[in-house]
Amino acid sequence: MHGRRWIFFDCDSTLSGIEGVDELARMRPAAVFEEVKRLTDQAMNGEIPIDSVFGRRLAVIRPNAEECARIGQAYIDQIEPTAVETLDRLRQEGWTVAIISGGFLPAIRPLAQFLRVEEVHAVDLRFAPDGSYLGFDEAHPNARNGGKPDLIRGLRNQRGFEKAVMVGDGVSDLETKGAVELFIGYGGFVAREKVRVGAERFVYRLADVLEMV
Ligand SMILES: [Mg+2]
Repeated sequence: MHGRRWIFFDCDSTLSGIEGVDELARMRPAAVFEEVKRLTDQAMNGEIPIDSVFGRRLAVIRPNAEECARIGQAYIDQIEPTAVETLDRLRQEGWTVAIISGGFLPAIRPLAQFLRVEEVHAVDLRFAPDGSYLGFDEAHPNARNGGKPDLIRGLRNQRGFEKAVMVGDGVSDLETKGAVELFIGYGGFVAREKVRVGAERFVYRLADVLEMV
């Protein structure tokens, strides 16, 4: 069922308007939220490395399973306006659609199901039986810079696809440029200067990707 052409979408601020980690932090005192939001923004702008903030943000938020499920609904509520039609069209045209995200798998899964995307690569979290936070998958490539291109290269070796396209808003997405045939920057929610300048193409609506692939 997997085709020769794969298209990868970032999740946060690309398929959906929210940054899941920031929304989780919003459930904590204001000072925690401000700190997390600042770290996320700096990491997505490429000002600080992802691995320097990844564990730090989670250690202060410690999201439980129920909170992650709430963020899952928020991803769906704030879905990119043209995402459903765009992914449907791509599949009709024979593309394998995948999500590749530095966000949290338990929070992203509901959106992936809503979009009927089976291929989801995001960082898993561990919970205790009562749902409280235990930790995250520290070995996951997306918890660090350079993780997304590594993951795409690995998948290309395993699945043998010929063409890969990446669509995303962040510097961690832009890093895939050498690992894919086309990198498309997305600025519908946040237009990051580094990404706009570095991208081969740049769109403000996901539907505009259809004419470029
Ligand atoms: Mg993003």
